[in-house]
Amino acid sequence: MRTWGNALQNGRVVDCEDMGNAFDFSLERLTGQGIPGGLESAGAGGEVSSGRLAGGLAGLESGAYVDNVGGKALAGTFFLETFGCQMNDHDSEKVAGVLLSRGYRQVDSPDTAAVILYNTCSIREKAAQKIFSRLGEYRFTKKEGQVIGVLGCLAQQEGEEIFERAPWVSLVCGSASYRKLPQLIAQLEAGNTRITGLETDTDETFETEMTRRDNPWRTYLTIIEGCDKACSYCVVPFTRGPERSRASASVLAEVRQLADLGYTEVQLLGQTVNSYADPSARRMRFSELLAAVAAVPGIRRVRFMTSHPRDFGKDIVEAIEAVPALCDHVHLPVQSGSTTLLRAMARTYTREEYLEKIAMLRGAKRRISITTDLIVGFPGETPKDFEETLSLMDTVRYDGAFSFKYSPRPNTPSLQMEDAIPEEEKSRRLAILQARQRDIQIERNARLVGDVFEVLVEGKSRRENQWMGHTSCNRVLNFTSPVKELLGHYVQVRVTRAGPNSLAGEAVHAGDAR
Ligand code: SF4
Repeated sequence: MRTWGNALQNGRVVDCEDMGNAFDFSLERLTGQGIPGGLESAGAGGEVSSGRLAGGLAGLESGAYVDNVGGKALAGTFFLETFGCQMNDHDSEKVAGVLLSRGYRQVDSPDTAAVILYNTCSIREKAAQKIFSRLGEYRFTKKEGQVIGVLGCLAQQEGEEIFERAPWVSLVCGSASYRKLPQLIAQLEAGNTRITGLETDTDETFETEMTRRDNPWRTYLTIIEGCDKACSYCVVPFTRGPERSRASASVLAEVRQLADLGYTEVQLLGQTVNSYADPSARRMRFSELLAAVAAVPGIRRVRFMTSHPRDFGKDIVEAIEAVPALCDHVHLPVQSGSTTLLRAMARTYTREEYLEKIAMLRGAKRRISITTDLIVGFPGETPKDFEETLSLMDTVRYDGAFSFKYSPRPNTPSLQMEDAIPEEEKSRRLAILQARQRDIQIERNARLVGDVFEVLVEGKSRRENQWMGHTSCNRVLNFTSPVKELLGHYVQVRVTRAGPNSLAGEAVHAGDAR
């Protein structure tokens, strides 16, 4: 599965060049120039030949495409590429699990796949354009019998329009319909070439026991899907539907299974993860769920992403203070430092209220790293509003920020607002903001030189003795150690150098057991 943004892909260790890229990507993620890491940031012509689908390939238990697919070499194979946030990454792991359970085999290239799937993001116009350009490549190159499907946010947003723009596509399925994927795939296997799953009025979440997880040590777990917040620029409430939380007992049962499988780090996911509302009689609060997950034997780290400032309470900070396994990192998107713009964005908090949450975090007994999302060039953003964003950054001194130019999205209220700020001006403001944030990161990271952090080791360089991993505060730390095997272990590392986007250091002793 090709994804955008994972240093470690398909559970394989990245090699030296890849590792360099992975590090570079981390740089991008921290400076906000890449694909959003925060969940909030919060994505003619040609005949479709009906892929013939039959069961019967030896070793396949169910009806994966098995013949007449541009040659037998492609039979029963799928390729899945993911765009966007961690929610999409994790959805793709579940989609892959569903396909594998139906007898498909995953391949690394669309050229060798019978079924080609794109799990899409539509949070920004650029992401949508990229996906349509990807689909356009198949106008002349789609092999006979190959099936192309569009999943996720763009699928939900564009719906059947995708069939008009790219008639070679056979499946359009939004994330709220993933639980129906087995049936939808069965319809494809039966030879149908126009399959849709586009409902959003569901109170179910997409749970499956078949998830194929990409990283052998850290894992995602969705606890709430959809969003009820209705920020004026955001497509998510439209593409992912209303908020649906998963029962706490079900979450904890899965965490126990994951711990039994050897996972030590769990990241709880949701578009607004801290708006979690346990639907069971237990009515566990989000902060209680965090502590309960952290208490599962074998779990050493718990992260959560993304928090909405309105629902971010003192109890979450107290949980982080009290439970060492809760990572000392909070991603708290602000979007703008101007209360006027926050109102226009329908963010439901003022600058002052947001800063109160920051004061709560900065006053914690543990040092908590804070990252954010920022939008420049929102309709009506005056130079004064922009200055207020810069001054808020100076006040908060974020450890990292994803920053973006506003782009109008379909089905959002801000589409009705005049998008009067020229692109060049948006670019100018973005460059100023990112330069400011870079300076802040240089200063904040430099202060960490000499400190010792525990690192979960996730990558190994081809260069002798070089490793990479993440600290609890979610910084990338590249380090040296003569120990032969450290992947998946927790290692104490002393920081010796700091850049704007990552740290470097050396292990102070060998990794302990997982
Ligand atoms: S509507 Fe607002 S809170 Fe909900 S996902 Fe979009 S940006 Fe986040």
